[in-house]
Amino acid sequence: MAKFHTLKVTELFRPTEDSIAVTFEIPENLREEFAFTQGQHLTLKRDIDGEDTRRSYSICSCPIDEKLTVAIKKLEGGRFSTWANDELKIGDEIEVNPPHGHFYVPLDPENANSYVAFASGSGITPIISIIETTLRTEPESEFILFYGNRRTGSIIFQEELEALKNRYMGRFSLYHVLSKERQESDLFNGRIDEKKIQGYAGRFFDPESVDHYFTCGPEEMMLAVQSELKNLGVPDEKIHLELFTSPVGKLGGKEKEVKHEKAHAQITIVLDGNSMTFPYDSDKSILDVAFDNGADLPYACKGGVCSTCVCRIEEGEVEMDVNYALEPDELERGLRLSCQSYPKTDKVKLNFDV
Ligand SMILES: Cc1cc2nc3c(=O)[nH]c(=O)nc-3n(C[C@H](O)[C@H](O)[C@H](O)COP(=O)(O)OP(=O)(O)OC[C@H]3O[C@@H](n4cnc5c(N)ncnc54)[C@H](O)[C@@H]3O)c2cc1C
Repeated sequence: MAKFHTLKVTELFRPTEDSIAVTFEIPENLREEFAFTQGQHLTLKRDIDGEDTRRSYSICSCPIDEKLTVAIKKLEGGRFSTWANDELKIGDEIEVNPPHGHFYVPLDPENANSYVAFASGSGITPIISIIETTLRTEPESEFILFYGNRRTGSIIFQEELEALKNRYMGRFSLYHVLSKERQESDLFNGRIDEKKIQGYAGRFFDPESVDHYFTCGPEEMMLAVQSELKNLGVPDEKIHLELFTSPVGKLGGKEKEVKHEKAHAQITIVLDGNSMTFPYDSDKSILDVAFDNGADLPYACKGGVCSTCVCRIEEGEVEMDVNYALEPDELERGLRLSCQSYPKTDKVKLNFDV
């Protein structure tokens, strides 16, 4: 995992009253490191009231424009999102970890694919980047978006989505689903749930002929999308999910907090080509113990979701509690989330330069 870099904020704009879109300047020497794929996210780090605060935000801009923008929705009592919405100014500097994540499918101008997305609230951020990039890269492909919000005033990127609809008329269809404002058709009143998806399937898209589905939003909606698409016969590999928080429900959340026995091991970590070794005599994650020993490793959510703390096992073995970020082929290549890792062997060597 690459390290944090200090980036300057060059643009700020408010898609809604309670969200802010933040654009960063990318210095020439960091262009390659900050090149991104649609659907990826950044981890931002800032000292807020004396506390090192790190949060992940999906990139909402289109990689073709070489512009790096995230949108942050203000959460009641939320530390980072409140600071960003209330205090962030143009010219401010934030520590930013380069783009990562795999909430995307590879694009090809030869494709004539059909894509469907279900988003809700701030879950639109990676989805709008995926939609725009797909429509610009694949001239024969089509996209349908079902976007859930409370009311019209809370729709993030409403104008930008309308502009995409006008620009890609016939290839991009947009349906707003509102829970606190009545629309003509009942199909679009309320929340996106299993029943709604049953109503959309067959009417707006043929579930079997869609090539890929994307969903991002509250866990409840993502769960409904996943289970209903499966009921409709869609295979797992066509359903792409992006979580913003560690799940608590059936998406794979822990039933209860896992208690680890105290263990003993020798841990070696490699970061920026330098290695350090320290004894592990604890029941805490390797990431936490490394911090206790003075290592400044990259991390953010500590919930197995954002993958900022990813590393590669070079010796020994670890056991992970939860993993919502790494794909089977990455696990196969030895990648692990250090925030979820506990030593299983006497010696463990983890390389963070992955
Ligand atoms: C891969 C990834 C991409 C993300 N992309 C975006 C994005 O593009 N835009 C965006 O606004 N956020 C995004 N998030 C969520 C973001 O990282 C923060 O969790 C969120 O901004 C809250 O941080 P905070 O410091 O304001 O709140 P905290 O001080 O961390 O928490 C405040 C309270 O809100 C709850 N909470 C935390 N996150 C959420 C949430 N998303 N919805 C509802 N309740 C929550 C917490 O459990 C807590 O009770 C993303 C998260 C991940 C892992």
